[in-house]
Amino acid sequence: MTLAPEFDYGIVGGGLQGCLLAHALAWHRPEATVLLLEQADDLCGNHTWSFHETDIADKAKSWFDPLVVHRWPGYRVRFPTLSRRVEIAYATITSDRLREATLSLADEAGGPVRPGRLVVRTGVSCEILSPSTVRVGGTADVSCRALLDCRGRAGAGTPSGAGYQTFIGHEYQTARRWPAAEPTIMDVPRDQAAGFEFLYELPLGPDRVLLEYTRFHEEPACDKSRAATLISARLAEADAGSAKLVRTEHGCLPMPYTAAARREGPSPAGGYAGGWFHAATGYSMPLAVRFAELVAQAQPDRVAAEVASAAAEDRLRRGFARFLNRLLFCLVKPADRWKIFRRFYRVLPEERISRFYAHRFTFTDAARIMIGWPPTGLAPIRFVRSFVSTPGPLPT
Ligand SMILES: Cc1cc2nc3c(=O)[nH]c(=O)nc-3n(C[C@H](O)[C@H](O)[C@H](O)COP(=O)(O)OP(=O)(O)OC[C@H]3O[C@@H](n4cnc5c(N)ncnc54)[C@H](O)[C@@H]3O)c2cc1C
Repeated sequence: MTLAPEFDYGIVGGGLQGCLLAHALAWHRPEATVLLLEQADDLCGNHTWSFHETDIADKAKSWFDPLVVHRWPGYRVRFPTLSRRVEIAYATITSDRLREATLSLADEAGGPVRPGRLVVRTGVSCEILSPSTVRVGGTADVSCRALLDCRGRAGAGTPSGAGYQTFIGHEYQTARRWPAAEPTIMDVPRDQAAGFEFLYELPLGPDRVLLEYTRFHEEPACDKSRAATLISARLAEADAGSAKLVRTEHGCLPMPYTAAARREGPSPAGGYAGGWFHAATGYSMPLAVRFAELVAQAQPDRVAAEVASAAAEDRLRRGFARFLNRLLFCLVKPADRWKIFRRFYRVLPEERISRFYAHRFTFTDAARIMIGWPPTGLAPIRFVRSFVSTPGPLPT
């Protein structure tokens, strides 16, 4: 494999952040040469990435909107004793769409490097040697005026404390029409003994639906049998005829409550690697798009400084999001966690909800989230101990 020795931008990691960045650069810097490197055989993995439309700044929409596959005018949340329709538009992009759109920016493999055309290399593990040099596939060193670490969890340091959000998603083609036209992003069953768990439902078409079991827990293991039980119960309730399983996805997302002990990387990091994700919701989209805009609008030589300054400006919000995780995973017992989310949706109006998900919340939004009756089932001693050592699992 031969690669041109020099690029304006090098992106290491072709997941959500790396591909969004490639699109932002193609839009804002059509004259630039851009290299995108991914260790897996394909870009983008296997995900359905959703977000609130209010997460995306207007200035990013010109390059971002064509990536959106589904849009809904609102969504629902359902808890024992609370059901609410939230009037914030919700949307999704899929790995398939993002991969196809990113590859369409690229030239044929092996062709000459041309400004405005992305060069993509997959199946190559990379090492970032310096702020401007990446070693590709263990052999070729390539230099870039700006090199961005978008290696996801592989590029992030390990936080000393984190809870986990685990997902098991099944996409079905149903024989009859699916009864709901809008997503239900939390359908919380009454039995919450195993931690905060819910079913996430995305109607992707009249007879197509993604049902995803999600659990917030201090352990990373997925509970497959609980997922199967809740998914089957929803299929039976929906009464949409026989359901053919057409796709599955699963994953586990650490939700840190301490800052990551980041290996001091030589180049600026985006996405999960750089803390450009919402620690308390697990959604990456708002901050990944913001990072992509920021990098693409900066001169290559100014990228590191602009990224550092934007991260510093956001540090109180990042700290608050991690603090919420500490409350959730260290203070509140598993069986009572759902009450925190029910209260969030009971007391907050739409504009505060959208600012919270978009990671643009204000001091008064944060105060409104915190102030109120605490739920029952608290473990204050464990919470205090969590500041000095990683606590073990909470008793249920
Ligand atoms: C099941 C699941 C559902 C989710 N749903 C949502 C959602 O609805 N909305 C949302 O906003 N977020 C969601 N998230 C969170 C989101 O997927 C992640 O936070 C996001 O993917 C992080 O983006 P990233 O680009 O930093 O990392 P990734 O998307 O993980 O990409 C990192 C890439 O870097 C590559 N890489 C790693 N090391 C190297 C190396 N040495 N050389 C070359 N390449 C390398 C990896 O192979 C990978 O492709 C979900 C997560 C999971 C697990």
